[in-house]
Amino acid sequence: MVEQPSKTGTLYVVATPIGNLDDISERAVRTLSEVDVVVVEDTRISRKLMDRCGIRPRTVAYHEHNESRRAPELVARLIRGDNLALISDAGTPLISDAGYRLVRLAQERGIAVVAVPGPCAAIAALSVAGLPTDRFAFEGFLPARAAPRQRRLQALAADDRTLIFYESVHRIVATLRDMVAIFGEDREAAIARELTKKFESTKRGALEDVLHWLEREPRRQKGEFVVLVRGSPEVEHDLREAERVLTILLRTLPLKPAVALAAEITGGGKNRLYRLALRIQGA
Ligand code: SAM
Repeated sequence: MVEQPSKTGTLYVVATPIGNLDDISERAVRTLSEVDVVVVEDTRISRKLMDRCGIRPRTVAYHEHNESRRAPELVARLIRGDNLALISDAGTPLISDAGYRLVRLAQERGIAVVAVPGPCAAIAALSVAGLPTDRFAFEGFLPARAAPRQRRLQALAADDRTLIFYESVHRIVATLRDMVAIFGEDREAAIARELTKKFESTKRGALEDVLHWLEREPRRQKGEFVVLVRGSPEVEHDLREAERVLTILLRTLPLKPAVALAAEITGGGKNRLYRLALRIQGA
């Protein structure tokens, strides 16, 4: 039976499959069948999962459009003693999905919030991409409009962690093109497409090759995607930082003191910085 730590109910945050319904865990099924209400994103999608599990729980719709109104109502139910399970259409709730407001509000009211972990597209993609996994940054969806998307990518260009993005079918090619332009055609990347589904495929290579792979076959541009980009090599990062510092200093200082100061600030070698300064001045 679902554990009841006090008179108030418990909010279970339950992960569900990202494609293959066999990926639902036993604990998830048990939790969904035992709680008083399952809070779902889309009732039609959750119905499919519930049918597959052979359960018919009471459901309440909760998504980004009714989040602020629904969260206090749901917390009131928890306070009255109901146990609730939160699921999204696929994967782990709150990961590029609604739920943050509900979890925060529940915790603020002293409600126990318990994870029932399981599938998450970002982590599944990372586990098969073949890119470094020791440090990574989840970036979710990039802005839909080109200018803010490019600004965001610029801001990430020097990050040395593996970057993980979600992308929709409408923008996958445009986003890859922006990545080639901003991160460079040689930066290693991977696409994980339709994970756990019939046409699952993963492609790793230089960003330009990954883009060509996608462009060559229009059917590859359909479905759900996770895009992963290897972090910026440290040398490149150091060089970019040195260039930034030198460019600022050279606005007001002559070459020699600018190089000396830049060496102090960045810890870089004077000779290398001197050559870089000459290049900046030449440009
Ligand atoms: N909460 C979900 C999770 O834990 O992964 C993510 C929800 S977000 C609204 C949906 C996005 O996740 C899709 O646009 C896609 O980028 C990614 N995604 C979900 N399922 C996927 C799959 N089977 N293969 C690849 N990407 C997937």
